[in-house]
Amino acid sequence: MSLVVVGSMAFDAIETPFGKSDKIVGGAGTYIAWCASNFTPVKQISVVGGDFPQEELDALTNRNVSLEGVQIKKDEKTFFWSGRYHMDMNTRDTLDTQLNVLADFKPVVPESYQDCEFLMLGNLVPAVQSSVIKQLKKRPKLIVMDTMNFWMEIAMDDLKETISMVDVLMVNDSEARQLSGDYSLVRAAATIMNMGPKYVIIKKGEHGALLFHGNQVFFAPALPLEEVFDPTGAGDTFAGGFIGHLAKTEDISFENMKTAIIVGSAMASYCVERFGTERLRQITKPDIDARLAEFVQLVNFDIALV
Ligand code: AMP
Repeated sequence: MSLVVVGSMAFDAIETPFGKSDKIVGGAGTYIAWCASNFTPVKQISVVGGDFPQEELDALTNRNVSLEGVQIKKDEKTFFWSGRYHMDMNTRDTLDTQLNVLADFKPVVPESYQDCEFLMLGNLVPAVQSSVIKQLKKRPKLIVMDTMNFWMEIAMDDLKETISMVDVLMVNDSEARQLSGDYSLVRAAATIMNMGPKYVIIKKGEHGALLFHGNQVFFAPALPLEEVFDPTGAGDTFAGGFIGHLAKTEDISFENMKTAIIVGSAMASYCVERFGTERLRQITKPDIDARLAEFVQLVNFDIALV
């Protein structure tokens, strides 16, 4: 079993109605790696510039994240993203996207990654995502893909090609609507399943997530939190928990995907408690178990149907 993660490693600058971060380490791949490494070793594929802190790379290595597939372009700058959240903390505006090293990123899958059984395509240029699939000599057992509206606006054809190659697509509700052209999330999921993926996950921020497969649907709530400090990376952390659980258990049944969605939701609930990856770096197995128990309580009830 081996989990390969592809995704951006970045600097982010975040503004919320309650605070502002300096340039901090972020990126979809970074969040996924920090999260998934709680469950299973990770083989990372990404690119950073010479300005990316070595301590950050060392911290990931210490977490059992292999960085053999992470290119370091000494004379270039790391990808930069900046966003501002609205009062509801569920919606945000992108203020700046500087692709830098991502602009001409050509991932090279190391030979030691060829045993990949679980592939997590974090949010990234769709053609880069598909190039990783094409480089794998044996198709992984499960390919999960995340994406965002940015790519729907500038690379729709490539995006559709990549979507057609994966098993599970994760998008948020507005992205599902944009991709399918349908306001109904049930119809949107059906349309997206017709594009290729057998499973579609639609994330609804503080309102939880839906998993669709054929005619089946499962709903996982988000944990009601008193305070959401910074939602950045919640989607990536959710993805890391989802694929991390599946890779650890090596079970890709719909039933186990339900559990994986709860694990993803529990991990995301930790992520949003501090800026950036700060909270994710602190949590341990007992913390994860405690939060999973809260989820069980949240949705557990008795009913007598007569
Ligand atoms: P999320 O809040 O889960 O949607 O993910 C936020 C992370 O995605 C941030 O840390 C950003 O660095 C990263 N990100 C934002 N835009 C892009 C993009 N166009 N390509 C790759 N990563 C991005």
